[in-house]
Amino acid sequence: MASRIPFEQLISSMMAVFDHLSEGIIITDTESVIQYVNQAYCEITGYSSEELIGQTPRIVRSDHHSPEFYQAMLETLRTEQGWEGQIWNRRKNGEAFLQNLKIAARRDEAGEVVQYIGIYQLPGAMDKELEPGESAPAFDYDPLTGLPVRTVFMDRLFQVLVNAFSANTRVAILYIDLDRFNHINENLGYMVGDAILKQVADMFSKRVGKRDIISRFSGDEFVVSLSQIDGPAQADAFAKELLALLEEPLVEEEQYIHLGASIGISIFPDDGDNAEELVRNAQTAMRRVKDTDGVQSLMFNADMNRNLSDMLTLENDIRWAIRQEEFEPFFQPKVDPFSRTITGMESLVRWNHPEEGMVPPGRFIGMTEENGLIVPIGYQVLRASCRHNKEWLDKGYDLAMAVNIAAAQFAQEDLVERIADILDETGLPARNLELEITEGAMIGDTAMAVERLNGLKELGIQIALDDFGTGYSSLSYLKKFPIDKLKIDQSFIRNMHEDEADSSLVYAIIMMGRTLGLKSVAEGVELKEQLDIVMKYGCREIQGFYFAKPMPAEEFEAFLEKGVPEADAEGTSA
Ligand code: C2E
Ligand code: MG
Ligand code: MG
Repeated sequence: MASRIPFEQLISSMMAVFDHLSEGIIITDTESVIQYVNQAYCEITGYSSEELIGQTPRIVRSDHHSPEFYQAMLETLRTEQGWEGQIWNRRKNGEAFLQNLKIAARRDEAGEVVQYIGIYQLPGAMDKELEPGESAPAFDYDPLTGLPVRTVFMDRLFQVLVNAFSANTRVAILYIDLDRFNHINENLGYMVGDAILKQVADMFSKRVGKRDIISRFSGDEFVVSLSQIDGPAQADAFAKELLALLEEPLVEEEQYIHLGASIGISIFPDDGDNAEELVRNAQTAMRRVKDTDGVQSLMFNADMNRNLSDMLTLENDIRWAIRQEEFEPFFQPKVDPFSRTITGMESLVRWNHPEEGMVPPGRFIGMTEENGLIVPIGYQVLRASCRHNKEWLDKGYDLAMAVNIAAAQFAQEDLVERIADILDETGLPARNLELEITEGAMIGDTAMAVERLNGLKELGIQIALDDFGTGYSSLSYLKKFPIDKLKIDQSFIRNMHEDEADSSLVYAIIMMGRTLGLKSVAEGVELKEQLDIVMKYGCREIQGFYFAKPMPAEEFEAFLEKGVPEADAEGTSA
């Protein structure tokens, strides 16, 4: 052997690689105590590595082999290099399954065995070469339910996402876990358990239909992908339909069995842009359902990836930060690309954290929107922003400053009043203030939204619809709301120079806006190519790293003094 790297070191540097293998890997000491398992082994058996490490492989033993079988295996291992063969094991959920197992004994220099390394493959994934005319082993489908297995599902989901991306449609992933299924296995036996699983699979797959995909991922876990949905509400309604199917008791061997399920939902592209991430996030949402009383389905949100104690610490820190007034605005200019003048700016909150420095909104906005803390933060930022803009106005810069208003803030009864007070207090004329509101904030209660917007318009404030194109974007309600501007979402600008569909969409938004008398702002312009396109479409307001990143107030003032960089500028983002 050429390698002189110590085995432990080799193994630890291989861990990352092992975790990406589809073969399960298990390492035990000479007493069969498990020291390491990789990700695939956990997935195959349904146990977590914490549950396995310190145990012996007995934990996955099925009752399909005699004690002599194991005895003979151990004997071979003691005397020979390794053992190879097929073995029936049992998953955590009780289900037995067949695996190809190779065990190698690792010996020290004196020839003493020091560790055993087991490599598991599911049959069908084996190395057997196919004879001409012979079909592949039928392991694409789960033998019990006939549903596609995980790998097949992931491949097909990948294709679905590719299509959805080009058609600009959404896809929902539902991760379904049956509740208390273990009890059925334990109390009624695996035969009944298997029969119940089959019934559930049949019911679900009938409802899912041919156009969409359902897979059995493991024991009592099913995953569904739904293409061409409009949004979260439709996915949630579908989850409720599946849950309703389980309300009727299932009958098996004259037993009436009531089953429930927990469903977590993620949406492409909102909750991830690839199959693995979407499935993982749907699974996270499913786990949250299990932890939450009285809830059977939930949509994923990014905060779910934080654990509870992190969340509580963060929430406390934020409450403290609000009192200490640690939230402050940065400003990013908006530029008229034809005259190269600064037309205005967007105020973007930063958390000036005493230890961590400037924390961007992505780290805390989601949580504060959920618990309502965005309301005091929003007013803190609005007040500070108005103060700055008033100063600049006094210095001769007459700018329309945009400030973001979160849905929760928009929904507050006294919104118009409080904003009027802030304008009074800071002395900023209403025409120098623009509010950015997302479509999501308006669609829930349109009568309320129209009333609020009218109140703001009466003060003389401009309204921009933020992240336009990502939400519900229907012409009919655009006409209903008294808005002035559309801010085209960055996701369309980003790929526009490479993607015909995105650039047509941007064109369509600008044109549609124009017919309705609305201005358009292109947000997220980073490249000269992107700038050229939106200029060609006649867009007169550009915001993006091409001109400048968001910056602190003093720096923004310096930017105002210097003016927009020369026409052949290479952008300032580098
Ligand atoms: P938004 O309102 O859509 O703001 C635009 C975001 O795009 C900003 O991120 C900005 O830094 C970023 N951006 C601008 N140009 C470019 C570009 O060329 N390339 C790239 N990659 N990014 C660009 P930021 O500051 O991290 O803010 C993120 C979001 O947080 C905002 O999205 C807004 O939804 C929210 N937010 C920020 N400040 C506030 C606030 O005071 N109140 C509320 N409710 N939400 C805020
Ligand atoms: Mg905005
Ligand atoms: Mg935006």
